[in-house]
Amino acid sequence: MIKVIIAGFKGKMGSTAMDMVKNDADLTLAALVDPFAQEKVVDGVPVFTVKEDLAGLDADVWVDFTTPQFVYENTRFALENGWAPVVGTTGFTPEEIDELIDLSIQKKLGGLIAPNFAIGAILLMQFAAQAARYFPNLEIIELHHDKKKDAPSGTAIKTAELISKVRAAQTQGAADEEELLAGARGAEFDGFRIHSVRLPGLVAHQEVIFGAQGEGLTIRHDSYDRVSFMSGVNLAIKEVVKREQLVYGLEHLL
Ligand code: NAP
Repeated sequence: MIKVIIAGFKGKMGSTAMDMVKNDADLTLAALVDPFAQEKVVDGVPVFTVKEDLAGLDADVWVDFTTPQFVYENTRFALENGWAPVVGTTGFTPEEIDELIDLSIQKKLGGLIAPNFAIGAILLMQFAAQAARYFPNLEIIELHHDKKKDAPSGTAIKTAELISKVRAAQTQGAADEEELLAGARGAEFDGFRIHSVRLPGLVAHQEVIFGAQGEGLTIRHDSYDRVSFMSGVNLAIKEVVKREQLVYGLEHLL
């Protein structure tokens, strides 16, 4: 039985993850964390508002769906306490991810930082990197619900990183192009652009649009429901407990 802590259990992702754990006979909830929780116990599971109060708790995995502001400290805290982190919260810097990987190696603990737990999004990233070898002119458009705190999304950044590794370096667009409204061309990443759309009704969506002489290619993924992330979270919980190093990207556990 794998004992799971869920940080951010009152949020949209955290509450969906809580239901997933409750419905899997191989998993059990060890604790729930949320700084503003009023309850002391939910369904027999202890609730904590201050993460330091969990120190020494008997658990295996720390699932994190909190906010970009806290996620780095939370992940360090999990590793320091011997819990393998499974982190869906986005907003890490590359340096923070490297530090956490080093710490996991020291602690001999598995873990995952996954900008996206949906299998279709993992495939989108891989297909986009494949296409970028042949179509170096591209733009990424990510679309999310209007409560999302960070932009661009972690998935867009990870997609851009994978594309950059294989794409012939170049700057796109006209050399003398001019933004008449600041931000009109989106964020610049290694010579190409990332655009973030925020609207009510959306969940998590991304397009990578490639353009070449006389042809175009668009690769798109849609998460219509947060349940789309849960098979990835479930797989990650069961895999990280067998590993001795944190990885960045669900594809490394598949
Ligand atoms: P959300 O509904 O705002 O949930 C976040 C929850 O975390 C809130 O209930 C928040 O409480 C709580 N929280 C804030 N600080 C905390 C802390 N220090 N410790 C414990 N809990 C804390 O957001 P969401 O839509 O569930 O998304 C959560 C994160 O997951 C975001 O970063 C989002 O980008 C990411 N995400 C990842 C994936 C993926 O596949 N990897 C998919 C979807 C979303 P208050 O509201 O009371 O502050």
